[in-house]
Amino acid sequence: MSGIYIHIPFCRQKCTYCDFVSFPNRLNFAEAYMACLYKEAEMRGKELEKIVFDTVYIGGGTPSVIDPKYIYGLMKQISKCFHLTEDPEATIEMNPGTVDAQKIALYRRAGINRFSVGLQTARDDQLEELGRIHTRADFVACCKLLKGMNFSADIMLGLKGQTKEDVRETIGLAEQNGATHVSMYALTPEDGTPIYTDYLNGELPDGDEVAELYDFGRTLLKEKGYLRYEVSNFCKPGFGSRHNMNYWKRGEYIGLGVSASSFFFGRRFTNTFDLDEYMKCILSGHFPVIESEEVEEKDAKFEFVMLALRTVFGLSSKAYAAQFKSDWKKDFEGAYARTKEYLEETGDTTRIKDEFLYVQNRILTEFME
Ligand code: SF4
Repeated sequence: MSGIYIHIPFCRQKCTYCDFVSFPNRLNFAEAYMACLYKEAEMRGKELEKIVFDTVYIGGGTPSVIDPKYIYGLMKQISKCFHLTEDPEATIEMNPGTVDAQKIALYRRAGINRFSVGLQTARDDQLEELGRIHTRADFVACCKLLKGMNFSADIMLGLKGQTKEDVRETIGLAEQNGATHVSMYALTPEDGTPIYTDYLNGELPDGDEVAELYDFGRTLLKEKGYLRYEVSNFCKPGFGSRHNMNYWKRGEYIGLGVSASSFFFGRRFTNTFDLDEYMKCILSGHFPVIESEEVEEKDAKFEFVMLALRTVFGLSSKAYAAQFKSDWKKDFEGAYARTKEYLEETGDTTRIKDEFLYVQNRILTEFME
């Protein structure tokens, strides 16, 4: 099955760590942008009319800052232009403090059945430091609106002064308020973002400290009944994200909107990161693609190995052989020998041992031969 990703690039303000394509001062362009998205959906839909899609993911930015009528219209347009399964998973990202009961009701009427809420941390002083627009209380209020629904909480590790107690508090808050899923990512201080100065000044936890926080969080999530199904993703049984699983299985997906990337028919391609350029291209009936490349077999093999090893399901020799007609241990002989002590094998499947999950990036780098 394939997925559809749609990028909504508007935010109320820029977080201090944000390196995503998001524009805090251009909310007045929302209507024009959404009209372009509807058009891009129509153009791509014609190309992909034979493909069946199983997931829709509306990310950003903060999709919940725009008028919900556009999300409603977008979902209608997606179901008109693409062939969706009978029961697609449809997710929207949102930030606490940007939604109310009417918005959620309209999202649900539009067919959205999964929500991804940016919590990051339960501590208000840390939220303020990150430039987030919300407080802990806003998160709790948001969860009340989502009571009984399928929703994920995003949390972040590696914040200035963050302790294990903070991680406990944050995971506890997500769980007590009904999150069915938790995504736990380490903060990446990107050059050019305000938080990068804190990193240069040595004010952020170092790699070993973040690894400890991750292990602490991972263990706590397990105790609370969240199963790890990918390095950074944990869910209550039955609540894994189908959309993300498609990425990790190297499934195909189409991206719509500024900066969105796609993987289809063996090619990876990316839309322009420039909002005006995006709209100009679409209005003149052209795809706003700035990069497009065919994935060579060598890269496809590496992607397959890397993505599979990130998941709890691991790397299946049979699945690899079925796709590439070869043996992954032979194709990556050197890397396999160098990383064997970090791996465990059950039947035909290889996984990274739990205790080495946090250094998975270092392990996976070995496979970039
Ligand atoms: S809400 Fe997300 S996309 Fe928007 S500025 Fe903050 S981190 Fe960036």
